[in-house]
Amino acid sequence: HPKPLTRALLSVSDKTGLVDFARSLVELGVSLISTGGTFKAITEAGLPVKEVSDVTGFPEMMDGRVKTLHPAVHGGLLAIRENPSHQAALLAHGIATIDLLVVNLYPFEATLARGGSFDDCVENIDIGGPAMIRAAAKNHADVAVVVEPSDYGAIIAELTAHDGSTTLPLRRRLAQKAYARTASYDAAISNWLAREIGEETPAFRALGGSLIQPMRYGENPHQSGAFYRTAEVRPGVATARQLQGKQLSYNNINDTDAAFECVAEFDPARTSAVVIVKHANPCGVAEGASLREAYEKALACDPVSAYGGIVALNQTLDADAARKIVEIFTEVIIAPDATEEAIALVAARKNLRLLLTGGLPDPRAPGLGFKTVAGGFLVQARDNAVIDDMPLEVVTKRAPTEAERADLIFAFRVAKHVKSNAIVYAKGGATVGVGAGQMSRVDSSRIAAWKAAEAARTAGLPRSLAEGSVVASDAFFPFADGLLAAAEAGATAVIQPGGSMRDDEVIKAADAAGLAMVFTRHRHFRH
Ligand code: 5GP
Repeated sequence: HPKPLTRALLSVSDKTGLVDFARSLVELGVSLISTGGTFKAITEAGLPVKEVSDVTGFPEMMDGRVKTLHPAVHGGLLAIRENPSHQAALLAHGIATIDLLVVNLYPFEATLARGGSFDDCVENIDIGGPAMIRAAAKNHADVAVVVEPSDYGAIIAELTAHDGSTTLPLRRRLAQKAYARTASYDAAISNWLAREIGEETPAFRALGGSLIQPMRYGENPHQSGAFYRTAEVRPGVATARQLQGKQLSYNNINDTDAAFECVAEFDPARTSAVVIVKHANPCGVAEGASLREAYEKALACDPVSAYGGIVALNQTLDADAARKIVEIFTEVIIAPDATEEAIALVAARKNLRLLLTGGLPDPRAPGLGFKTVAGGFLVQARDNAVIDDMPLEVVTKRAPTEAERADLIFAFRVAKHVKSNAIVYAKGGATVGVGAGQMSRVDSSRIAAWKAAEAARTAGLPRSLAEGSVVASDAFFPFADGLLAAAEAGATAVIQPGGSMRDDEVIKAADAAGLAMVFTRHRHFRH
């Protein structure tokens, strides 16, 4: 039952586009009501408009603090048109309905931005505006609410197209926008007050998180910290059940998340997998016939760094694996589940935290990632590209052998979870050398090779672990040098995105060194 618009209330601080909009409304037969300044602007344009004080029977008072806060306004906005008792109330109190509300708020944010005084900011907190916006938005079944001059054109277009009425889908969209506006308005006020009283104002409050726990500190003791949960349903550190041990720290949570997201890349139906993380980078990742075997292989990659690390498993933690893991000092174990016996074994280590998530997150699931920058934040879709979905393009004369191919896939899967520049050596379903977070790819290559040699030395082995390995790079090799460093360390096959200007040169070098190389055409930068 589309009823044409009859009455609109306009009360705007930002008068952009106001007169043109008001004129179009008048031409469509809509009668207008307005507050002081808005009334003046419309009258000066020679358009008919009624003052809100004539509607309320009260003058605007207290420097404008009370203008529209009156049943004649709010009754007109909130009355359900089809409801007989609401109709009766309108009639009894002589209230006329309002079908269109046009409000933009006192410029609180702008006052703050131009360095307004405390009192100036307080005076620029709009009260009647948000009250009307929220009322009209609640009653969007009958009322359209506009909070931005940039929407005026769309409203007029819709009114013209629908014989002077608005459609319900448009009113819903406008209502959603209206509540977003009042929410951000109040958030700006609250953040300002928080700063005034010396409280921190974490940007993530705006992301709609709910507090899991305040923390004693953040990444460092002089930083505050807190842990929030979002509405996203994803098995992981934020939703896990902690069975024992003290509260997780900021760094524990960050590292545990990195470990669990990495281990979730390994399908538990295909293989057992273990990831050991230190400082958000894997220092050992392996697959195996059992979790224990996978853990031992992961540990062998870098047993020195693994001390005090986070261990993530892709399957139910069993007693055999638990017995081995508790042998060295570990901060956190995270797994989808654990057997009774494993839980009892872990319980013997009082300080070791055991987190059970009830499942693995889907590495292909979409989602968002945030990063704060000065005065704002960056948002991006999560890196949900998975190596199994990428066509592997053999670019060298020699194709990888079956064993090399399996390790190449393994290495690239891990490289996704290593901070850039990432170089990962792998052999037999285990990392044997990880180079993370260097500013130069060659340096990452060298570090990974050095770590592989170092791990061999510690274990009393005669040859570097990189001997006969494969190597993965998270982004293309811009020059042949990084690739040649890998060949020199003992790698026989290479996996990388490709796409460098000098791909030809790099491929030639690979051929000359007898390497097999595949391109994934997908980059896994991680910063
Ligand atoms: P005008 O320029 O028309 O005098 O004032 C417009 C502004 O007043 C709008 O930003 C509107 O949100 C705000 N406003 C409308 N009613 C009230 C009220 O009752 N109290 C306060 N504080 N602001 C109001």
